[in-house]
Amino acid sequence: MNFDTFFKERLDALHSEGRYRVFADLERRRGDFPRAFDHRIGVDVTVWCSNDYLGMGQHPAVLAAMAAEMERTGAGAGGTRNISGTSHAHVLLERELAELHRREAALVFTSGFVANEAALSTLAGSMPGMVVLSDAMNHASMIAGIRNSRAERVIFRHNDTAHLEELLAGLPAERPKLVCFESVYSMDGDIAPIGEICDIADRYGAMTYLDEVHAVGLYGDHGGGVSERDGVSHRLTVIQGTLAKAFGTMGGYVAGSALMCDFLRGHAPGFIFTSSMPPLVAAGALAAIRHLRESQAERARHQERVATVKRRLSEARLPLMPSTSHIVPVMVGDAALCRMASDLLLQHHQIYVQPINYPTVPRGTERLRLTPTPLHSDADIDALMAAFEDVWQLLQLPKVRENAGG
Ligand SMILES: *Cc1c(COP(=O)(O)O)cnc(C)c1O
Repeated sequence: MNFDTFFKERLDALHSEGRYRVFADLERRRGDFPRAFDHRIGVDVTVWCSNDYLGMGQHPAVLAAMAAEMERTGAGAGGTRNISGTSHAHVLLERELAELHRREAALVFTSGFVANEAALSTLAGSMPGMVVLSDAMNHASMIAGIRNSRAERVIFRHNDTAHLEELLAGLPAERPKLVCFESVYSMDGDIAPIGEICDIADRYGAMTYLDEVHAVGLYGDHGGGVSERDGVSHRLTVIQGTLAKAFGTMGGYVAGSALMCDFLRGHAPGFIFTSSMPPLVAAGALAAIRHLRESQAERARHQERVATVKRRLSEARLPLMPSTSHIVPVMVGDAALCRMASDLLLQHHQIYVQPINYPTVPRGTERLRLTPTPLHSDADIDALMAAFEDVWQLLQLPKVRENAGG
Protein backbone atom coordinates (compact mmCIF):
# COMPACT_ATOMS: atom_id res chain seq x y z
CA MET A 1 0.00 0.00 0.00
CA ASN A 2 1.22 3.47 -0.87
CA PHE A 3 0.51 5.38 2.33
CA ASP A 4 1.03 8.83 0.83
CA THR A 5 -1.61 8.06 -1.80
CA PHE A 6 -3.98 7.18 1.01
CA PHE A 7 -3.26 10.44 2.84
CA LYS A 8 -3.64 12.47 -0.34
CA GLU A 9 -7.01 10.89 -1.20
CA ARG A 10 -8.33 11.64 2.27
CA LEU A 11 -7.08 15.22 2.08
CA ASP A 12 -8.63 15.70 -1.36
CA ALA A 13 -11.94 14.57 0.12
CA LEU A 14 -11.63 17.20 2.86
CA HIS A 15 -10.90 19.85 0.21
CA SER A 16 -13.85 18.88 -1.97
CA GLU A 17 -16.20 18.96 1.02
CA GLY A 18 -14.93 22.44 1.93
CA ARG A 19 -13.74 21.29 5.33
CA TYR A 20 -9.98 21.20 4.87
CA ARG A 21 -8.68 23.07 7.91
CA VAL A 22 -6.65 26.21 7.29
CA PHE A 23 -4.78 27.47 10.34
CA ALA A 24 -3.98 31.07 11.12
CA ASP A 25 -0.39 32.19 11.74
CA LEU A 26 -0.79 34.67 14.55
CA GLU A 27 1.54 36.45 16.89
CA ARG A 28 -0.37 37.51 19.96
CA ARG A 29 0.72 40.87 21.29
CA ARG A 30 1.05 41.12 25.03
CA GLY A 31 -0.83 44.21 26.24
CA ASP A 32 -2.66 44.57 22.94
CA PHE A 33 -5.29 41.80 23.09
CA PRO A 34 -7.54 41.29 21.08
CA ARG A 35 -5.02 42.51 18.48
CA ALA A 36 -2.53 40.07 16.99
CA PHE A 37 -0.08 40.23 14.10
CA ASP A 38 -1.22 37.93 11.28
CA HIS A 39 1.78 36.50 9.42
CA ARG A 40 -0.41 35.39 6.50
CA ILE A 41 -1.36 38.93 5.50
CA GLY A 42 1.42 40.84 7.26
CA VAL A 43 -0.78 43.21 9.28
CA ASP A 44 -2.46 43.46 12.68
CA VAL A 45 -5.87 41.86 12.97
CA THR A 46 -8.62 41.98 15.60
CA VAL A 47 -9.30 38.50 16.95
CA TRP A 48 -13.03 37.82 17.43
CA CYS A 49 -12.90 34.08 18.08
CA SER A 50 -10.52 33.66 21.01
CA ASN A 51 -11.34 31.40 23.95
CA ASP A 52 -9.15 33.64 26.13
CA TYR A 53 -12.59 34.93 27.07
CA LEU A 54 -11.48 37.53 29.61
CA GLY A 55 -8.01 38.35 28.32
CA MET A 56 -6.43 36.67 31.36
CA GLY A 57 -3.68 35.38 29.04
CA GLN A 58 -2.09 38.80 29.33
CA HIS A 59 -3.32 39.89 32.78
CA PRO A 60 -0.47 41.53 34.76
CA ALA A 61 -1.08 39.37 37.84
CA VAL A 62 -0.86 36.20 35.73
CA LEU A 63 2.27 37.29 33.87
CA ALA A 64 4.00 38.38 37.09
CA ALA A 65 3.23 35.05 38.75
CA MET A 66 4.55 33.10 35.77
CA ALA A 67 7.73 35.18 35.47
CA ALA A 68 8.44 34.88 39.19
CA GLU A 69 7.83 31.13 39.19
CA MET A 70 10.11 30.66 36.17
CA GLU A 71 12.84 32.69 37.89
CA ARG A 72 12.50 30.52 41.00
CA THR A 73 11.97 27.06 39.52
CA GLY A 74 13.01 27.01 35.85
CA ALA A 75 11.21 25.70 32.80
CA GLY A 76 9.71 22.22 33.19
CA ALA A 77 8.25 20.06 35.94
CA GLY A 78 10.91 17.36 35.74
CA GLY A 79 8.68 14.33 35.85
CA THR A 80 5.30 12.72 36.19
CA ARG A 81 3.26 13.61 39.25
CA ASN A 82 4.35 10.35 40.89
CA ILE A 83 8.05 10.60 40.05
CA SER A 84 9.48 14.00 41.08
CA GLY A 85 6.98 16.06 39.02
CA THR A 86 4.77 17.31 41.87
CA SER A 87 5.82 20.86 42.65
CA HIS A 88 4.47 23.12 45.34
CA ALA A 89 2.69 25.12 42.60
CA HIS A 90 0.66 21.99 41.65
CA VAL A 91 -0.33 21.44 45.27
CA LEU A 92 -1.43 25.06 45.67
CA LEU A 93 -3.32 24.97 42.37
CA GLU A 94 -5.29 21.85 43.32
CA ARG A 95 -6.14 23.37 46.70
CA GLU A 96 -7.34 26.56 44.99
CA LEU A 97 -9.50 24.63 42.50
CA ALA A 98 -11.13 22.65 45.30
CA GLU A 99 -11.96 25.94 47.05
CA LEU A 100 -13.20 27.53 43.81
CA HIS A 101 -15.83 24.80 43.45
CA ARG A 102 -16.29 24.38 47.22
CA ARG A 103 -15.45 20.71 46.95
CA GLU A 104 -13.11 18.54 49.00
CA ALA A 105 -10.46 18.01 46.36
CA ALA A 106 -9.29 18.64 42.81
CA LEU A 107 -6.88 16.96 40.44
CA VAL A 108 -4.94 18.76 37.68
CA PHE A 109 -4.28 17.25 34.23
CA THR A 110 -2.19 18.54 31.34
CA SER A 111 -5.26 19.75 29.44
CA GLY A 112 -9.04 19.81 29.61
CA PHE A 113 -9.13 17.18 26.87
CA VAL A 114 -6.87 14.89 28.87
CA ALA A 115 -8.93 15.50 32.03
CA ASN A 116 -12.11 14.38 30.27
CA GLU A 117 -10.51 11.42 28.52
CA ALA A 118 -8.70 10.20 31.62
CA ALA A 119 -11.46 10.79 34.17
CA LEU A 120 -14.32 9.41 32.09
CA SER A 121 -12.48 6.37 30.75
CA THR A 122 -11.40 5.50 34.29
CA LEU A 123 -14.68 6.24 36.11
CA ALA A 124 -16.87 4.52 33.55
CA GLY A 125 -14.40 1.74 32.81
CA SER A 126 -13.77 0.56 36.34
CA MET A 127 -17.30 -0.31 37.48
CA PRO A 128 -18.75 -3.55 36.09
CA GLY A 129 -22.05 -3.08 34.25
CA MET A 130 -21.67 0.71 33.96
CA VAL A 131 -23.99 2.59 31.59
CA VAL A 132 -23.00 6.11 30.52
CA LEU A 133 -25.80 8.51 29.59
CA SER A 134 -24.24 11.12 27.36
CA ASP A 135 -25.74 14.34 25.97
CA ALA A 136 -25.89 14.26 22.16
CA MET A 137 -23.82 17.44 21.90
CA ASN A 138 -21.00 16.43 24.23
CA HIS A 139 -17.46 17.48 23.31
CA ALA A 140 -15.06 15.13 21.47
CA SER A 141 -12.93 14.75 24.62
CA MET A 142 -15.86 13.36 26.61
CA ILE A 143 -16.78 11.04 23.75
CA ALA A 144 -13.17 9.81 23.65
CA GLY A 145 -13.24 9.09 27.40
CA ILE A 146 -16.55 7.24 27.19
CA ARG A 147 -15.40 5.20 24.17
CA ASN A 148 -12.13 4.28 25.85
CA SER A 149 -13.99 3.13 28.96
CA ARG A 150 -15.70 0.43 26.82
CA ALA A 151 -18.79 0.94 28.97
CA GLU A 152 -22.23 0.84 27.35
CA ARG A 153 -23.16 4.29 26.08
CA VAL A 154 -26.67 5.67 25.69
CA ILE A 155 -27.18 9.09 24.11
CA PHE A 156 -29.93 11.42 25.28
CA ARG A 157 -31.23 14.23 23.11
CA HIS A 158 -29.45 17.51 23.75
CA ASN A 159 -30.56 19.10 27.06
CA ASP A 160 -33.73 16.95 26.92
CA THR A 161 -34.41 16.02 30.55
CA ALA A 162 -37.57 14.04 29.71
CA HIS A 163 -35.56 11.86 27.33
CA LEU A 164 -32.82 11.40 29.94
CA GLU A 165 -35.38 10.31 32.52
CA GLU A 166 -37.04 7.93 30.08
CA LEU A 167 -33.71 6.26 29.32
CA LEU A 168 -32.76 6.01 33.00
CA ALA A 169 -36.15 4.51 33.85
CA GLY A 170 -35.57 1.78 31.26
CA LEU A 171 -32.29 0.62 32.80
CA PRO A 172 -31.99 -2.06 35.53
CA ALA A 173 -31.85 -0.44 38.97
CA GLU A 174 -28.75 -2.37 40.00
CA ARG A 175 -26.52 -1.20 37.15
CA PRO A 176 -24.18 1.75 37.97
CA LYS A 177 -24.94 4.83 35.88
CA LEU A 178 -23.12 8.01 34.94
CA VAL A 179 -24.84 11.06 33.42
CA CYS A 180 -22.39 13.13 31.48
CA PHE A 181 -23.02 16.65 30.12
CA GLU A 182 -21.73 20.22 29.74
CA SER A 183 -22.91 23.50 31.27
CA VAL A 184 -22.28 25.92 28.38
CA TYR A 185 -22.27 24.25 24.96
CA SER A 186 -19.64 26.17 23.09
CA MET A 187 -20.94 26.07 19.52
CA ASP A 188 -24.62 27.01 20.14
CA GLY A 189 -24.06 28.88 23.39
CA ASP A 190 -26.99 27.26 25.20
CA ILE A 191 -26.87 26.19 28.87
CA ALA A 192 -27.88 22.91 30.51
CA PRO A 193 -30.52 22.74 33.27
CA ILE A 194 -27.94 21.41 35.76
CA GLY A 195 -30.20 21.28 38.84
CA GLU A 196 -32.92 19.43 36.95
CA ILE A 197 -30.43 16.90 35.57
CA CYS A 198 -29.09 16.35 39.12
CA ASP A 199 -32.67 15.79 40.37
CA ILE A 200 -33.21 13.11 37.75
CA ALA A 201 -29.80 11.50 38.31
CA ASP A 202 -30.52 11.38 42.06
CA ARG A 203 -33.84 9.63 41.49
CA TYR A 204 -32.00 6.83 39.66
CA GLY A 205 -28.88 6.76 41.82
CA ALA A 206 -26.65 7.91 38.93
CA MET A 207 -23.33 9.74 39.19
CA THR A 208 -23.11 13.13 37.42
CA TYR A 209 -20.18 14.46 35.39
CA LEU A 210 -20.31 18.12 34.30
CA ASP A 211 -17.90 19.74 31.83
CA GLU A 212 -17.72 23.44 32.83
CA VAL A 213 -14.89 24.25 30.41
CA HIS A 214 -16.75 27.19 28.82
CA ALA A 215 -18.09 28.52 32.12
CA VAL A 216 -15.34 28.49 34.75
CA GLY A 217 -14.07 31.98 35.46
CA LEU A 218 -17.09 33.42 33.64
CA TYR A 219 -20.17 32.56 35.72
CA GLY A 220 -20.90 32.52 39.45
CA ASP A 221 -19.82 35.15 41.99
CA HIS A 222 -16.36 33.59 42.23
CA GLY A 223 -16.04 32.20 38.70
CA GLY A 224 -17.06 28.71 39.80
CA GLY A 225 -19.13 28.29 36.63
CA VAL A 226 -22.82 27.81 35.97
CA SER A 227 -22.99 25.25 38.78
CA GLU A 228 -21.95 28.04 41.19
CA ARG A 229 -24.37 30.52 39.61
CA ASP A 230 -27.21 27.99 40.01
CA GLY A 231 -26.14 26.98 43.55
CA VAL A 232 -25.70 23.30 42.63
CA SER A 233 -21.89 22.73 42.71
CA HIS A 234 -22.23 20.40 45.71
CA ARG A 235 -24.61 18.10 43.85
CA LEU A 236 -22.29 16.92 41.06
CA THR A 237 -20.05 13.88 41.36
CA VAL A 238 -17.47 15.49 39.09
CA ILE A 239 -16.99 19.08 37.94
CA GLN A 240 -14.45 19.26 35.12
CA GLY A 241 -12.83 22.45 33.83
CA THR A 242 -9.95 23.93 31.86
CA LEU A 243 -7.24 26.42 32.74
CA ALA A 244 -6.77 27.30 29.05
CA LYS A 245 -9.90 29.34 28.31
CA ALA A 246 -11.13 31.96 30.79
CA PHE A 247 -8.11 31.28 33.04
CA GLY A 248 -5.83 32.14 30.12
CA THR A 249 -3.09 29.53 30.56
CA MET A 250 -3.11 25.76 30.05
CA GLY A 251 -4.20 22.58 31.81
CA GLY A 252 -7.39 20.84 32.88
CA TYR A 253 -8.86 19.49 36.10
CA VAL A 254 -11.63 17.68 37.89
CA ALA A 255 -13.08 18.59 41.29
CA GLY A 256 -15.24 16.51 43.62
CA SER A 257 -14.97 14.34 46.70
CA ALA A 258 -11.57 13.50 48.19
CA LEU A 259 -12.23 9.81 47.57
CA MET A 260 -13.16 10.31 43.91
CA CYS A 261 -10.02 12.40 43.26
CA ASP A 262 -7.84 9.95 45.15
CA PHE A 263 -9.33 7.09 43.12
CA LEU A 264 -8.53 8.85 39.81
CA ARG A 265 -5.05 9.79 41.05
CA GLY A 266 -4.25 6.12 41.48
CA HIS A 267 -6.06 4.67 38.46
CA ALA A 268 -6.26 7.10 35.50
CA PRO A 269 -3.48 6.40 32.96
CA GLY A 270 -3.88 9.90 31.47
CA PHE A 271 -3.04 11.34 34.88
CA ILE A 272 -0.32 8.91 35.89
CA PHE A 273 1.77 8.29 32.78
CA THR A 274 2.53 11.84 31.63
CA SER A 275 4.80 14.61 32.86
CA SER A 276 3.04 17.26 34.89
CA MET A 277 2.58 20.81 33.64
CA PRO A 278 5.48 23.22 34.20
CA PRO A 279 5.20 24.81 37.66
CA LEU A 280 5.26 28.25 36.02
CA VAL A 281 2.04 27.36 34.17
CA ALA A 282 0.46 26.15 37.42
CA ALA A 283 1.48 29.42 39.07
CA GLY A 284 -0.07 31.45 36.24
CA ALA A 285 -3.33 29.51 36.40
CA LEU A 286 -3.39 29.91 40.17
CA ALA A 287 -3.00 33.70 39.84
CA ALA A 288 -5.82 33.84 37.27
CA ILE A 289 -8.19 31.81 39.46
CA ARG A 290 -7.36 33.89 42.55
CA HIS A 291 -7.95 37.11 40.65
CA LEU A 292 -11.27 35.97 39.21
CA ARG A 293 -12.51 34.62 42.55
CA GLU A 294 -12.34 38.17 43.91
CA SER A 295 -12.87 40.49 40.97
CA GLN A 296 -16.27 40.97 39.33
CA ALA A 297 -15.05 43.62 36.88
CA GLU A 298 -14.03 41.24 34.09
CA ARG A 299 -17.22 39.19 34.31
CA ALA A 300 -19.44 42.30 34.35
CA ARG A 301 -17.70 43.92 31.38
CA HIS A 302 -17.71 40.59 29.53
CA GLN A 303 -21.49 40.21 29.89
CA GLU A 304 -22.01 43.84 28.83
CA ARG A 305 -19.85 43.44 25.70
CA VAL A 306 -21.66 40.20 24.78
CA ALA A 307 -25.08 41.85 25.19
CA THR A 308 -23.95 44.79 23.06
CA VAL A 309 -22.69 42.61 20.20
CA LYS A 310 -25.89 40.51 20.28
CA ARG A 311 -28.03 43.67 20.22
CA ARG A 312 -26.09 45.17 17.32
CA LEU A 313 -26.29 41.96 15.26
CA SER A 314 -29.99 41.68 15.92
CA GLU A 315 -30.61 45.35 14.99
CA ALA A 316 -28.72 44.74 11.74
CA ARG A 317 -30.95 41.66 11.12
CA LEU A 318 -27.90 39.41 10.88
CA PRO A 319 -28.73 35.74 11.66
CA LEU A 320 -27.65 35.64 15.29
CA MET A 321 -28.38 32.20 16.74
CA PRO A 322 -30.38 32.08 20.02
CA SER A 323 -27.52 31.80 22.54
CA THR A 324 -28.12 32.28 26.28
CA SER A 325 -24.41 32.58 27.06
CA HIS A 326 -21.35 34.59 26.05
CA ILE A 327 -21.01 32.64 22.79
CA VAL A 328 -22.32 34.61 19.81
CA PRO A 329 -22.84 32.30 16.80
CA VAL A 330 -23.91 33.80 13.48
CA MET A 331 -25.42 31.29 11.04
CA VAL A 332 -24.10 30.94 7.49
CA GLY A 333 -25.37 27.42 6.76
CA ASP A 334 -22.87 26.41 4.06
CA ALA A 335 -19.27 25.27 4.41
CA ALA A 336 -17.86 27.06 1.35
CA LEU A 337 -19.71 30.34 2.05
CA CYS A 338 -18.65 30.20 5.69
CA ARG A 339 -15.02 29.91 4.67
CA MET A 340 -15.42 32.71 2.10
CA ALA A 341 -17.06 34.99 4.68
CA SER A 342 -14.18 34.35 7.06
CA ASP A 343 -11.61 35.00 4.29
CA LEU A 344 -13.30 38.28 3.30
CA LEU A 345 -13.50 39.46 6.91
CA LEU A 346 -9.77 38.87 7.19
CA GLN A 347 -8.62 40.17 3.80
CA HIS A 348 -10.88 43.23 3.58
CA HIS A 349 -11.38 44.13 7.21
CA GLN A 350 -8.51 42.61 9.23
CA ILE A 351 -11.06 40.79 11.36
CA TYR A 352 -10.23 37.22 12.28
CA VAL A 353 -13.17 34.85 12.85
CA GLN A 354 -12.48 31.18 12.18
CA PRO A 355 -15.24 29.43 10.18
CA ILE A 356 -16.88 26.62 12.16
CA ASN A 357 -17.68 23.74 9.84
CA TYR A 358 -18.55 20.03 10.00
CA PRO A 359 -17.70 17.89 12.00
CA THR A 360 -17.50 20.49 14.77
CA VAL A 361 -21.13 21.41 13.95
CA PRO A 362 -23.74 19.52 11.85
CA ARG A 363 -23.68 20.07 8.07
CA GLY A 364 -25.96 22.92 7.01
CA THR A 365 -25.33 24.81 10.27
CA GLU A 366 -21.87 26.17 9.41
CA ARG A 367 -21.35 29.40 11.27
CA LEU A 368 -19.11 32.21 12.42
CA ARG A 369 -18.69 32.01 16.18
CA LEU A 370 -17.93 35.34 17.86
CA THR A 371 -16.53 35.59 21.37
CA PRO A 372 -16.60 39.21 22.58
CA THR A 373 -14.20 39.91 25.44
CA PRO A 374 -13.93 42.73 27.99
CA LEU A 375 -11.10 44.10 25.83
CA HIS A 376 -13.12 44.62 22.64
CA SER A 377 -13.83 48.37 22.42
CA ASP A 378 -16.86 50.20 21.02
CA ALA A 379 -14.74 50.99 17.96
CA ASP A 380 -13.97 47.27 17.56
CA ILE A 381 -17.68 46.49 17.64
CA ASP A 382 -18.44 49.27 15.09
CA ALA A 383 -15.74 47.85 12.79
CA LEU A 384 -17.12 44.34 13.22
CA MET A 385 -20.62 45.45 12.27
CA ALA A 386 -19.44 47.36 9.20
CA ALA A 387 -17.40 44.34 8.11
CA PHE A 388 -20.33 41.94 8.53
CA GLU A 389 -22.62 44.27 6.53
CA ASP A 390 -20.05 44.39 3.74
CA VAL A 391 -19.46 40.63 3.65
CA TRP A 392 -23.18 39.79 3.84
CA GLN A 393 -23.71 42.15 0.87
CA LEU A 394 -20.79 40.77 -1.17
CA LEU A 395 -21.78 37.13 -0.68
CA GLN A 396 -25.52 37.86 -0.87
CA LEU A 397 -26.06 36.06 2.42
CA PRO A 398 -29.61 36.15 3.78
CA LYS A 399 -30.65 38.47 6.58
CA VAL A 400 -33.38 37.88 9.15
CA ARG A 401 -36.72 39.25 7.91
CA GLU A 402 -38.03 40.67 11.15
CA ASN A 403 -35.83 42.48 13.63
CA ALA A 404 -35.28 39.62 16.08
CA GLY A 405 -34.63 42.13 18.84
CA GLY A 406 -38.22 43.47 18.49
C1 LIG B 1 -11.88 23.05 24.75
C2 LIG B 1 -12.75 22.01 25.38
C3 LIG B 1 -12.22 20.97 26.16
C4 LIG B 1 -10.74 20.73 26.22
O1 LIG B 1 -10.10 21.65 27.03
P1 LIG B 1 -8.56 21.98 26.72
O2 LIG B 1 -8.06 22.50 28.00
O3 LIG B 1 -8.57 22.97 25.59
O4 LIG B 1 -7.91 20.70 26.31
C5 LIG B 1 -13.07 20.15 26.86
N1 LIG B 1 -14.42 20.29 26.80
C6 LIG B 1 -14.97 21.26 26.03
C7 LIG B 1 -16.45 21.39 26.00
C8 LIG B 1 -14.17 22.13 25.28
O5 LIG B 1 -14.72 23.03 24.48
